[in-house]
Amino acid sequence: MPNASLVIANWKMNGNRELTKTMSMALREKLSQLQKVKIVVCPPFTLISELASQCYYDDIAIGAQNVSEHTSGAYTGETSTTQLQEFGVSYVLVGHSERRQLFAETDDKVNEKALATVNAGMTAVICVGENKAQRDEGNTWKVVAEQAKAALANLPKEKAGKVVLAYEPVWAIGTGETASPEQAQDVHAKLRTLLVEQFGAIGEKMPLLYGGSVKADNAAELFAQKDIDGGLIGGASLKESDFVAICQAAQG
Ligand code: PEP
Repeated sequence: MPNASLVIANWKMNGNRELTKTMSMALREKLSQLQKVKIVVCPPFTLISELASQCYYDDIAIGAQNVSEHTSGAYTGETSTTQLQEFGVSYVLVGHSERRQLFAETDDKVNEKALATVNAGMTAVICVGENKAQRDEGNTWKVVAEQAKAALANLPKEKAGKVVLAYEPVWAIGTGETASPEQAQDVHAKLRTLLVEQFGAIGEKMPLLYGGSVKADNAAELFAQKDIDGGLIGGASLKESDFVAICQAAQG
């Protein structure tokens, strides 16, 4: 029986003001009664203010898709934690594979961004995942463990409550090819052990999300896995009915 606690929408560079209206209306009408599921929507920066003004009820939080590791200054095109917080942002995606691949974000940069996020009091959603070649070579866990350890370096135990890990196999992102529930659970179980080793008992409770072509029709079986606590949803978060169905699947 699915019992996931966190579902995060990543709109990427999609959406417009119209979508903020239709999505917030759909979430308000259909999901304001969900008791157990926290929903976070990460729109592009330009839509954060508008979405925040429409999603004013407690169960919906606003996330950003990226943040600067710097606090202020001459960093053209960047946005700081404080600037995001001023608009009600409380979650930040860190180390998404598209940032790693297309914008050359290294493990060190991901770590700096994660530290900046949690030190500002926001929740860092740290993304890790192997590509197809790495999986085919049998290196899935090696790659995922290296990314996770690097991203979590120097993170004090008292900040662990502000960290979410999202396992997102790169070969499953936007491809329609999903990890099987067993493949995902296998990596999640190992990530759970890694979290407990670093943070102790609190590691048992840190949310572990799965992302990669989660859809309305496969969400329930993924969320039913022991160590899958929710999902990071890309494409399917752009259509109200699909996203609502995924959130309902999380509720069980
Ligand atoms: C993502 O970009 O984080 C993602 C999981 O995308 P999709 O759901 O489209 O695979």
